[in-house]
Amino acid sequence: MATDIASRVRPSLAGFEPYDPAFSPCEVNLSANENTYPLPQDVRDGIVQALTTTPLNRYPDPLANELRTELAAWHGVGRECVMVGNGGDELLFNLLFCFGGPDRALVVAPPCFEEYKNFAKMCETEVVEVWRSEQDYSLDADALVDAARGASLVMLTSPNNPTGDLVEPTLVRRLLNETDALVLLDEAYVEFAPAGASLVPWVKDNPRLMILRTLSKAFALAGLRCGYLIADPQVIDVLAAIRQIYSEDVLAQAVALRAVRSRTAFEPVVRAIVEEREELAKTLAALPGATLWPSSANFLLVRIPGAAQVRARLRDEHSVLVRDFSYAPGLSDCLRITVGTHDENERLISALKAILEVE
Ligand SMILES: *Cc1c(COP(=O)(O)O)cnc(C)c1O
Repeated sequence: MATDIASRVRPSLAGFEPYDPAFSPCEVNLSANENTYPLPQDVRDGIVQALTTTPLNRYPDPLANELRTELAAWHGVGRECVMVGNGGDELLFNLLFCFGGPDRALVVAPPCFEEYKNFAKMCETEVVEVWRSEQDYSLDADALVDAARGASLVMLTSPNNPTGDLVEPTLVRRLLNETDALVLLDEAYVEFAPAGASLVPWVKDNPRLMILRTLSKAFALAGLRCGYLIADPQVIDVLAAIRQIYSEDVLAQAVALRAVRSRTAFEPVVRAIVEEREELAKTLAALPGATLWPSSANFLLVRIPGAAQVRARLRDEHSVLVRDFSYAPGLSDCLRITVGTHDENERLISALKAILEVE
C-alpha cells in the first residue's frame, strides 16, 4: 500500500508549496531587490578577516550579543531592545508563532509581502486583509484601525514591497492609540527612504510597536541571512524564549558585526541607488502606456501593457531578469524592478525600448 504522507501533514500546513523566487540565470538580475553594487573595499576586507578568524568548532552565542550591542548603539536603544534572526523572515515567523494562533488575527494591507500571510496560516492565525486603493495603492487608515481593533497583530511595510510607499506616521500613531494590537512596521527598505523615515525612535515610548530591519537590502548581505527586530524588552524576552536556539550561525554573526560597524561605508552606495532610482523612474514613466508609482525603496513598480510577456522577453532575449507581479491580485500588468548599477539600469532601459519599439 502506498503511504500518503500528505494526508498526515498537520492541517494548518496542508497545501503549502516550496517558495519559488521565480529565478532564472540572467546576466542582469533586477528581480529580488538585492543590492547589486560591489561591497565597499574595507567592508570586504573586514568580512574576509572575520571569515578566516572565526572558529567553527564552538556553538554560536544564541542571542548574538556582540552584534546586538552594535545594532543597539547604532539605533540608540538598549541591547535588551534588539533581537537578531536568520533573516527578517525568521523573525516574522517567530512573531506569528508567538503572538498568533487559533482565535487570533493578523491584519495586513495587500498588495504587500506575501510571507506575512503564509506564516500566519502556518501558525493557524486568521488573516484580515485591508486592501490598498486600486488607483494609487494608498492605505485605508480608517479600515485598518477598525480591523486592528479585533486583532492581535498588524503588519505594515514601510516602504512597502512592492508598491514602494512609506506608511504615514499618523496611521501608526492611530493604530497604537486607538487599538490594543501589536504593530509590526517592516522597515526592510527604509535605508533608501528620506532621512527620518524610520520609526525606530518611537519604540522606547510605545511597547506595542516593533520594527523589523534586515541586512539583506541596503547592506548587500541577502545571502548571509541576518535581520533584526527593535522592540520593547518584553517582546524581545518572549522571542528569545521561543527561537531556534542557534539559528544565527557564527559566520553570519561575525560578518554582520563587521558590516554594521562599517555602516557609514554603505552611505555612498545607498545614495547612488537613490539617484539611479529617480533617473530610472523618469525613464520608465515615459515608456508608452506605462504607469509608475513613486518609490522610497530600491525598486520601482511599473504597470506596462502585456507585462508578463515583456518580462519573458527581457529574460529570454536580453538576459535581464525582473519580477512579474501581473498574476497577483491588485497588481495586474505590474513588474517590480530592482534599481541596479548605472550599467545594469541602462541595459534594462535599452532592452525595454527594444521590446516596446521606442526609438
Ligand atoms: C526582503 C524583505 C524582508 C526581509 O528579508 P530577509 O532577507 O529575510 O531579511 C522583510 N520584509 C520585506 C517586505 C522584504 O522585502
